Amino acid sequence: MSRSTPEYILAALPTHQTASLPHTRPVRVTDTLSIGGSEVVIAAGPCSIEGFDMLLASARHVKAAGASLLRGGAFKPRTSPYAFQGLGDEGLVIMAEVRDRTGIPIVTEVLDTRQVDRVAQIADVMQVGARNMQNFALLAELGRCGKPVLLKRGASARVAELLLAAEHIMANGNDRVILCERGIRTFETGTRYTLDISAIAVLKHETHLPVLVDPSHAGGRSDLVMPLSLAAIAAGADGLIIEVHPNPPAALSDADQQLTFEQFSDVMIQSARVALACDRTIKLRESDIRPPVDRTQLLPPFDLRRPARDTAVVA
Ligand code: PEP
Ligand code: MN
Repeated sequence: MSRSTPEYILAALPTHQTASLPHTRPVRVTDTLSIGGSEVVIAAGPCSIEGFDMLLASARHVKAAGASLLRGGAFKPRTSPYAFQGLGDEGLVIMAEVRDRTGIPIVTEVLDTRQVDRVAQIADVMQVGARNMQNFALLAELGRCGKPVLLKRGASARVAELLLAAEHIMANGNDRVILCERGIRTFETGTRYTLDISAIAVLKHETHLPVLVDPSHAGGRSDLVMPLSLAAIAAGADGLIIEVHPNPPAALSDADQQLTFEQFSDVMIQSARVALACDRTIKLRESDIRPPVDRTQLLPPFDLRRPARDTAVVA
């Protein structure tokens, strides 16, 4: 990417700001939630909405553990046409009911221009999946939808292409775009995709848009979610989007990568420690932050020898 010939304009960081980072402009989601400020924002929930009870249980748990957004797919992009395709409109209704009961805002995927109006009526954040990153008709429609958009990087897309996809949404009137690094296709087969940690740092040099990271789809394995989450926060991510399911082995999609409630709580606690070391915050439950984080217990490079700031993690 050359700074002298910017192909994206609205998504670009003004050139005079590149010298001193960061210059992320927070994106407002609701009156009480923005992404891209000092708080590392966590979105969590099942891959697919499979029913009311499982979504309500997931929402209650992830909210109690400190998540600010509930994720869950009603319309699912599946590689096989014979795999579970999501509950569709019924899933949206379930999501709305769960939000009403728990108060947690929701992020859900929109697959098609024909779905934009009805997803926008319910979702707090509209998700564009990796497979749709360059669906330009969909991006244009989302430019006019009035809701913030979580734009996931295509598995084979360059960072510049992700930024140009964001530009399509912004050029159509919507500047509330949040980017998401979710792993790219490489020769490696030990993981589902390869999480491009470098992309987080590159994006921070190129754009004012906030950057989320999806460690679940990147690794494709529940045991990788913790290390990838910590690495993402250390690299400067503004948040994470994590798959959590009440009973992962029984999940109708992405069973291998979804966390149990207990595993998710652990990820939240460790993530808060890394956030603190990076001068960021993650909201945790009061009960989870006792005893206070002891900086001397943090491994290099996180042992920064600065005084602990108790205000950094609050319920
Ligand atoms: C998802 O987040 O539900 C999803 C399908 O992810 P991706 O588009 O990154 O594959
Ligand atoms: Mn999934």
